[in-house]
Order: sequence, then structure tokens, then C-alpha cells
Amino acid sequence: MVQIKEEIVNQGHGYLSPSLFAVHSTANPGATARNHRDLWSRGYDYAVHLTSDWTEAIHCVPYDRLCWQVGNGNGTCEGIEICEATNASDFWKGIEIAADVIAQRLRAHGWGVDRMHPHQWFAQVYGGSDHTDPIPYFTRYGYTWQAFVQLVQQKLSGVTAGQEVDIMAGMMIRNDDTGVIWYCEPGKGRTALTHVDQANLLQQAGVPLIHANSRAPWWARFDQIDALVRTTMKKLGV
Ligand SMILES: [Zn+2]
Repeated sequence: MVQIKEEIVNQGHGYLSPSLFAVHSTANPGATARNHRDLWSRGYDYAVHLTSDWTEAIHCVPYDRLCWQVGNGNGTCEGIEICEATNASDFWKGIEIAADVIAQRLRAHGWGVDRMHPHQWFAQVYGGSDHTDPIPYFTRYGYTWQAFVQLVQQKLSGVTAGQEVDIMAGMMIRNDDTGVIWYCEPGKGRTALTHVDQANLLQQAGVPLIHANSRAPWWARFDQIDALVRTTMKKLGV
């Protein structure tokens, strides 16, 4: 579980009793959660309760204080700003952290994922804003809102870390001169293994290894692993 750092730096704009949860992305690629926390600490009008990036999550505005974040729906929601990564590895790390933090907050309220919506939804339902985040950010990395909802749901359902590794992992080796083996966990991203023994151990532990020739669509193969793993998870009722 991600440790949410308590660093209240902004008091927002009056009392808030939220019934929904808003998910944003910053539209400021590369800027970190700490960058935003620092900005919001300087009496900034715009601030959101939480912000997270690929290494940490920070609680910046008290949960019972109203934030100017989604336009006319401001009075309905608690929110998080997901910092926008500049590479796929950080993207997946960031998604994992954000989903974990949101699951913690939904659990604290006794809410389900049906209370969680993108800024885009608030803009459409309540007006006063034309933002579409975080959808364009997700799309840049081939990710969808539906997949994010599913990930948060998994965390709410209390899937343990051990189960996640067992069920969700896959490996791919590209049969060309680089010999790099990639390890993939949906929702966590793709990591290059540093030693072939790591792959051997993972394979012994039941993690599937897919071979591809040098002309195979690199990421498409990984998406097949992703699909395979998700199908398995569905069968297991995870
Ligand atoms: Zn937004």
C-alpha cells in the first residue's frame, strides 16, 4: 500500500462534504507531485486534495475543504491530480500509485468505484469547465479509463501483492541481437530484466515467456500478454 504523505499546504476555499471523487492529470508533463505541492503552498488558488507521481503521493488540502478543481461541480468532490510522466515506465508506476491512493480514499469514505469520475465527466455533467483530463494523458500511453477503474476496483477488493505478481505477470524476449527480456505487469509497466537468471526464476515460478522474432510488433506482443493475463484474472474472479 502506498503511504500518503501528510503535507497540508493549502486550505482551499471553504467547507466541503464530498460525495464523489475527481481524477485529474496535470497537463504539465514531467512536473512532479512535489513540484505541485510546492506551487500550492504559495497561496495558489488552484489546488487539489491529493497529488501523485511515479514515486510518491502527497495530501496537500484537508479533505473537508473545497477545491476549485472541476468548475460548477466543485462542491461535490474530493480529488487527485495525477502528474503526467514523460515515459512509459514512469506512466505505469504513476498509474499504480494513483490507483492505490484512490482505493484508500474510496475505502475511507465507504464508497465504490462508481463514485470516481474523470474531470471530463464533471465538466460534462456540471459545466463550468471544458477540461477532458485525464483521458488524453491515458490515451497517449494506450491506456483507458475503463482499465483504470478496473485497477482501482482490484485494489478495493483487496487483491494481495503476492497474488498480483502471480497472476498478472508476463515476460517477452525479442529474438534479435539485443537479447533483452522484458517483464510486464499490467498496471505496473514494462521493465527490462538485467540478468537472464531473473527470467529463468520467473519462468520457473510460472510467469509465461513469449518469444517474438525481430519483425514482430514489439508492443503488440506485450498487449497480447496483457490480454492473456486479464482473461486469466477474469476466470479466477479477481
Ligand atoms: Zn482536471
